[in-house]
Amino acid sequence: MASMIDGFRDADICKNLLKQIEKEATKDIYRFMEVCGSHTMAIAKFGIKSILPSNIDLVSGPGCPVCVTPQCEIDALFDIVQQGAIIATFGDMMRVPGANGENLQKMKSEGADVRIVFSPLDAIKIAEETDKEVVFVGIGFETTAPAVAGLALIAKQKGIKNISITPYNKTMPEVLGLLLADDKLNINGFVCPGHVTAVTGLNLYRPIVEAGMAAVVTGFEPVDILTSILEMIQQVNSGEYKAVNNYSRVVADEGNWKAREIIDTVYEKQGCWWRGIGFIKDSGLAFKAEYKEYDAFDKFRVSLEGDDEIEGCMCGDVLKGYIKPTECTLFGSGCVPENPVGPCMVSSEGACAAAYKYG
Ligand code: SF4
Repeated sequence: MASMIDGFRDADICKNLLKQIEKEATKDIYRFMEVCGSHTMAIAKFGIKSILPSNIDLVSGPGCPVCVTPQCEIDALFDIVQQGAIIATFGDMMRVPGANGENLQKMKSEGADVRIVFSPLDAIKIAEETDKEVVFVGIGFETTAPAVAGLALIAKQKGIKNISITPYNKTMPEVLGLLLADDKLNINGFVCPGHVTAVTGLNLYRPIVEAGMAAVVTGFEPVDILTSILEMIQQVNSGEYKAVNNYSRVVADEGNWKAREIIDTVYEKQGCWWRGIGFIKDSGLAFKAEYKEYDAFDKFRVSLEGDDEIEGCMCGDVLKGYIKPTECTLFGSGCVPENPVGPCMVSSEGACAAAYKYG
């Protein structure tokens, strides 16, 4: 039986979309950025760049949460491991390298208690079964923030004291603002993150439209992505920009107010550092005073000092869309997934990992 996904991978629909794109892409160049790391992976996996006309340039943006987490915060997690805590994490943090080459996988093989979980709630279960400190690696954007905040809410309700969370979560509006102000980028439109929008709603993209660029929220299948590219081409050609929801099977235009309420209950906005990008005002989520006891960095008194620079690594330029991963001199030689130099090569949503895996 055909699944719904099959329809979004239909070869004939894709061919027709491509024909339309070729016909309507009459300008010298169209430059679009996909903000979300999952889109970067999907575009690479389905070979979208290779089938598009050469005057359509797709660049990756800063939407891989693991990639934008500063080195000192990654090293702070390793400090917590060394203090003997149980670490509960999603799988893609396992091989993110520390400043001294260590990673969670290596630490686990040397005896650290590092467990891969599939939901923040798994961390609650672990904490209930032990007296040891459990640290959940909370990471992501608005997509994961409600579930991570939910962990703190449940822990508080249940009176669980031996659990805490790394305060890695970041938010999209501020980094989008930074991209919009960057003259160097020359972007005509954004493929906007589907899952983030499921929480925030389309309002998030008003500044993009006001700046005279296209904004299309879309899913992760070839038909989703090609339809979005066609929509952006049409907006650029007409000069009439609007935020379009091309992922209405998952995303409501107004987002999810309940999820936003959970975030606002637990977190408050705070400026934070983005690896390779710098400090962005109000772009981080910090625990409010009543939930501060769940801040792992506070609880373990870790140092957050250190340099983000990794010699030769150009993750910052990749994350800002200045260069393609293959333009980094270490790509594929000094830096490969088995021996990554920067996080963009190791994260499951990293642009360098996508380019290496799918070519
Ligand atoms: S190829 Fe490796 S070193 Fe170069 S930018 Fe990507 S992650 Fe960094």
